Amino acid sequence: MSKISESEWIWRDGEFVPWKDATLHVLAHAVQFGSAVFEGIRCYNTPKGPAIFRLREHLRRMYNSCKIYRMDVPYTPDQLVEAARELVRRNKLEACYIRPMVLRGYGAAGMVPFESPVEVFLPCWPWGAYLGDDALEKGVDACVASWHRVAPNTIPAIAKIAGNYLNGQLIKMEALADGYEEAIALGPDGLVSEGSGQNVFVVADGAIYTPPIDGTLLPGITRDSVVTIAKDLGIATHVQPLAREVLYTCDELFLSGTASEITPVRSVDRLPVGTGKPGPVTRAIQKRFLDIVNGRVPDEHGWLTHVQ
Ligand code: PMP
Repeated sequence: MSKISESEWIWRDGEFVPWKDATLHVLAHAVQFGSAVFEGIRCYNTPKGPAIFRLREHLRRMYNSCKIYRMDVPYTPDQLVEAARELVRRNKLEACYIRPMVLRGYGAAGMVPFESPVEVFLPCWPWGAYLGDDALEKGVDACVASWHRVAPNTIPAIAKIAGNYLNGQLIKMEALADGYEEAIALGPDGLVSEGSGQNVFVVADGAIYTPPIDGTLLPGITRDSVVTIAKDLGIATHVQPLAREVLYTCDELFLSGTASEITPVRSVDRLPVGTGKPGPVTRAIQKRFLDIVNGRVPDEHGWLTHVQ
């Protein structure tokens, strides 16, 4: 488990403020009603200095989340790209996690948000392996959560907004309480949806399978990167509904996410996945991913935004 490790500056609506000054009123709409759109983006230490991974794609998802919730972002993507680069430079960080937030501040008394200003923050801080130091190497033990993901047309799953993470918290706390590192949740129809903060990939007979964007899960930027990497490596990808039991019978299983990167799953509900060790397809995709983000191979897809 990890606690935030403070950095020096936070970008707040066009200016840099000291970390401790980036505060909100307790009655801000975001606090009362969960209306804080956010992103999670990693910046890696490459041979050419710090580089932010797929910054523009993360920002696109953020603007889409805001659109769904009728929040007008008062900055252009270009302005936020420059703000993010300056943020990493100012904080003198080599590798870090950037957490852009667009939230409704103080003003509205009730649920109708329009009396609250839309405020934009860009914090960042150093953040290591989300699922623990051994997770990338050895894999994690997961369970199937008893909590389901949200149903389509209830709370939009493709929006990354604070309120959605109440469901994620229940899923993750249950997993930890039961002695697992992570949980995979099912959608309301009982089919595989996603982890508490990761997308799910199954490997069978050398091909990879992941559930479709069906209104129960977040379309991960890492998920998209995995699909592209698989294509580059000549690995067939199938986007299709997956029954729960496939998690027990597949050859390999892994999770993808900004914080978790490519994390192998070695068991589900105490049943070993395949040999119980990370398999060759997972390894190949993970290696390629880590080589790209760390700048060890050419950035063929233009995924890195260098900070210098
Ligand atoms: N699903 C959920 C619920 C998440 O919170 C995340 C992390 N943002 C993901 C999937 C993976 O998305 P990404 O690869 O863009 O980090």
